[in-house]
Amino acid sequence: MFATLSDRLASTFKNLRGKGRLSEADIDATAREIRIALLEADVALPVVKEFVGAIKERARGEEVSGALNPAQQIVKIVNEELVAILGGETRRLRYAKTGPTVIMLAGLQGAGKTTLAAKLALWLKEQGKTPMLVACDLQRPNAVNQLQVNGERVGVPVFAPEPGNGVGNPVEVAKQGVAEAKRTLHDVVIIDTAGRLGIDAEMMGQARMIRTATQPDEVLFVVDAMIGQDAVNTALAFQEGVGYDGVVLTKLDGDARGGAALSIASITGKPVMFASNGEKMTDFDLFHPDRMASRILD
Ligand code: GDP
Repeated sequence: MFATLSDRLASTFKNLRGKGRLSEADIDATAREIRIALLEADVALPVVKEFVGAIKERARGEEVSGALNPAQQIVKIVNEELVAILGGETRRLRYAKTGPTVIMLAGLQGAGKTTLAAKLALWLKEQGKTPMLVACDLQRPNAVNQLQVNGERVGVPVFAPEPGNGVGNPVEVAKQGVAEAKRTLHDVVIIDTAGRLGIDAEMMGQARMIRTATQPDEVLFVVDAMIGQDAVNTALAFQEGVGYDGVVLTKLDGDARGGAALSIASITGKPVMFASNGEKMTDFDLFHPDRMASRILD
């Protein structure tokens, strides 16, 4: 991801090398190139405008620092603005003070929720937690089984619907799953919910009911970074329909142009908290805006 954006920005900055001082024309030309690079990377237009506006303003007002030449100064500004647009500081999970921390996942079918549920469970285990998974995706035929298989792979128990246990009713399964975690002293519960291929009122309604019934400490919106501009629309629809505290980007290992990553935090005001970058259970980590910005500017 970000290969094209990274290359475009690198060549933009190369044009500035050797300049003693940046003229207004240099700043304008650089801003124009940054704008094109971001648009090519599928960054949403309002985000591009704000970003480029901030760069221009700062480049004009920047004190000439002895330590950095003008080109380096622009790189520094772009780096700082990229970190800001990606959500600023790394946002960590908030754990419940008492009882199990409830984390609910929401997102479209195919976003990578079920895979992510198990990855997150493994990551939590490595942080010394004792997670439990709850299979509430009763829509996709194989989702419960897939979660059970993945749960087994990472050594985390899965609460799944069975006769007398909320079969066919995801809200009931979610409630019973949380109660089971309390009873068995698991300190984090991860609820996998159903998605659809497109935004759907019934799915939103169901997710909202699960949210109301389980009062999660964190609702995470899971989104495939490969869907480009659509990611922003989906993110907004889920914000309106379900509401969430943070975003998880999946499939960062693909050749997505990166626009989703850059647009979502800025447009929704919700931080990207985790990134999933592969099919292996360990291909997952906290999302660090500063590291991502450095990767883009590498
Ligand atoms: P769900 O419908 O949201 O539960 O999505 P799944 O967890 O079933 O994932 C859909 C597909 O995406 C599966 O084939 C996963 O193996 C794949 N997948 C999930 N996360 C990643 C990732 O980070 N990178 C790649 N390359 N594939 C992923």
